[in-house]
Amino acid sequence: MTLSYESPKVAIPGTVNLNLTPSCYVSQSPNYQIQLPGTDCLVKAQIPLAHLTSFRVGGPAEWYVAPRTLEELQAGFEWAYSQGFPVTLLGAGSNLLISDRGLSGLVIGTRRLRHTKFDPNTGQVTVGAGEPLPRLAWHTAERGWQGLEWAVGIPGTVGGAVVMNAGAHGGCIAESLVNAHVLLPNGTTKILASSELGYTYRTSTLQGRSWLVTQATFQLKLGGEPDKVAADTAAHLNHRRTTQPYHLPSCGSVFRNPGEHKAGWLIEQAGLKGYQIGGAQIAQRHANFILNCGTATATDIFQLIRHVQQEVEQRWLLWLEPEVKILGEFQPI
Ligand SMILES: Cc1cc2nc3c(=O)[nH]c(=O)nc-3n(C[C@H](O)[C@H](O)[C@H](O)COP(=O)(O)OP(=O)(O)OC[C@H]3O[C@@H](n4cnc5c(N)ncnc54)[C@H](O)[C@@H]3O)c2cc1C
Repeated sequence: MTLSYESPKVAIPGTVNLNLTPSCYVSQSPNYQIQLPGTDCLVKAQIPLAHLTSFRVGGPAEWYVAPRTLEELQAGFEWAYSQGFPVTLLGAGSNLLISDRGLSGLVIGTRRLRHTKFDPNTGQVTVGAGEPLPRLAWHTAERGWQGLEWAVGIPGTVGGAVVMNAGAHGGCIAESLVNAHVLLPNGTTKILASSELGYTYRTSTLQGRSWLVTQATFQLKLGGEPDKVAADTAAHLNHRRTTQPYHLPSCGSVFRNPGEHKAGWLIEQAGLKGYQIGGAQIAQRHANFILNCGTATATDIFQLIRHVQQEVEQRWLLWLEPEVKILGEFQPI
């Protein structure tokens, strides 16, 4: 199957949209669904996305599909292309701020791409993109395989972690990834070695394009004592729970650390801990976290992000770049 396909037309934050009605993208009513040709996979209209993100905010997807196989993924891309729809890729939604208006076109959720294969001879583990990263960390630890202990507190999928080069406690994906299988919007597949992904701090060349990671292989170190590796893994989780606010919805760190400075320290020094817009608040425990205190909208969070950027710039002459991916349309501030 060969198709030409445009890259996703994701609106850039701050775009002025002069045509703000209706309040979300409606081409069909909720409950309307279509079967992807040649599969039994359903594409559904008007699916709420807030509960599919860790911020718990955002409007619906105009269309949503959660394929289980490569064939279903290919059929999803082909259908979107045939309809002229932009495509957005969604893992666990733990690093996303989705507009209150929702997203136009097709959202492809990867959570059902789940499989894991351990090779005890090589120490390599191959995992589907939808596998939760903490689950992978526990499963490798209980075998005594070392290398992913740091990953246990990151609530994303393997695919999202490969794209984001997720990391914590001095470790990151780039250090153990062997390769990633990707599906291109034209239906073809590629195997990309870790060295081809341009990995730097929380960055890869997969960001900003619609290449879907379907699975990834990691090289781990064999021969560890399972109890010890599990204890190290648990220690990382406990440390995070005591230093970071896990009790309310968030996306983890909102801003990238600029150079040697920690974004959280810069925000704290600007006096912004506890600052609130609507239901969104800068966490007291960790100033690089924005919390949804229960009633936040995506707009509240977006405005708070802008406020922090402006205040930090005024105080430190530094513009903080968001680590969180901002999707959909937001009013300029
Ligand atoms: C409480 C909390 C703590 C966190 N702590 C950390 C931390 O310590 N370190 C850290 O690095 N991050 C952290 N994060 C952020 C987040 O968990 C990571 O960035 C994670 O890797 C995102 O994975 P995801 O599956 O949720 O991706 P999503 O948020 O769904 O998507 C992120 C980006 O990846 C793309 N994407 C997702 N899946 C695929 C795929 N299969 N193929 C292609 N593109 C894809 C999306 O389109 C989007 O651009 C934290 C988040 C929370 C809520």
